[in-house]
Amino acid sequence: EKEYLMLPGPTPVPPRVLRAMSEPLVNHRGPSFKKLIEEVTEGIQYVYQTKNDVLTLPSSGTGGLEAAIVNFLSPGDKVLALSIGAFGERFATIARNYGCIVEQIDYEWGTAANPDDVRTRLSADTKGEYKAVLVTHNETSTGVANDLKAISEARGNHPALLLVDSVSGLGVMDAKTDDWQLDVVVTAAQKGFMIPPGVAFVSVSPRAWKAYESSKAPKFYWDLGTAKKYLEKGQTSWTPPIPQYTALKEALKIFRDKGMDYIFTKQLYLRDITRAGVKAMGLKLVAADEVASAAVTAVWAPEGIEGKLINKKMREEYNVVVAGGQKKMENKAFRIGHLGYVQHVDMLVVIAALEMCLLDLGYPVELGKGVKAAQEVIMSRK
Ligand code: PMP
Repeated sequence: EKEYLMLPGPTPVPPRVLRAMSEPLVNHRGPSFKKLIEEVTEGIQYVYQTKNDVLTLPSSGTGGLEAAIVNFLSPGDKVLALSIGAFGERFATIARNYGCIVEQIDYEWGTAANPDDVRTRLSADTKGEYKAVLVTHNETSTGVANDLKAISEARGNHPALLLVDSVSGLGVMDAKTDDWQLDVVVTAAQKGFMIPPGVAFVSVSPRAWKAYESSKAPKFYWDLGTAKKYLEKGQTSWTPPIPQYTALKEALKIFRDKGMDYIFTKQLYLRDITRAGVKAMGLKLVAADEVASAAVTAVWAPEGIEGKLINKKMREEYNVVVAGGQKKMENKAFRIGHLGYVQHVDMLVVIAALEMCLLDLGYPVELGKGVKAAQEVIMSRK
């Protein structure tokens, strides 16, 4: 049966990308892989809007986050971690586990980080004790996007590196790596990039490479200096997941053909359709409009209805797979992914199924109200 995978990752994979994965394997130390990784790296740099080095790692997003910590920091380093949800917490935890002294600012879930907090702390730090600021671009647990540009600018002349978790942001929402001076940006394949899980990408600015020289955190598999040396030969440090690279080559053609502006606009459009539909049903959204993510919409389950039941009913009765609430939002919210290989009418399917599920669960929704509001967004933007 046809299933609608409406998660904030893994996301649906376009058929042409899936087909590309079935190409015969090649020698990863030979000339065809060299050509492939060079082409793919250039394509990733296009999506990242960067001339910085971008390394590809055989891992999910979390491995990329770990690489961002172990390559540029040392035990005892003070870092400022901005946490607006489950993934902000995770990034801070990785730094803590590697011995960094983490000063964590916790924002209420559903809100964005305040760049003024960065400005205040860093401008008072005349000795340059903060070595890095850790920030999540798109907080997948709450559906809130941080203002990366403003956060970067808030550093002023402070030398702290800006380490960005853009696992669910890159390729979905604008992130101008070079213009906004984002030192290290981590993402993974299974979200905006529309390929199956298995590769993470990490961009490294010249400033970050300087920090790498003095980093004393233990590293081996994730050593980006090693990865860079191998990339110069057209290889990866270790045996790579080759089908992911052939998939990536195909997916990156889509980005090139469409252009980044088209993709960012489309993603905002899908967000607006989703939010209009959900709001019209009378449901409450976790994120306010001003900070709402273009990748995922988190919705509070109505009073008295368990979030998990909504997920279950959506899956069992309509084959629509949406994500649950995470950590403290477990069973209290659900999340609709709308990134990657998704189009406007897919959102109508989700909204229509949601209306029927909620009605079955005893929530007084008028059938078609959410769908109509979503359709109106589509009609108004023709
Ligand atoms: N950070 C963010 C913002 C994410 O959305 C995710 C995945 N949901 C991760 C990190 C972790 O990625 P992975 O599950 O691929 O390790």
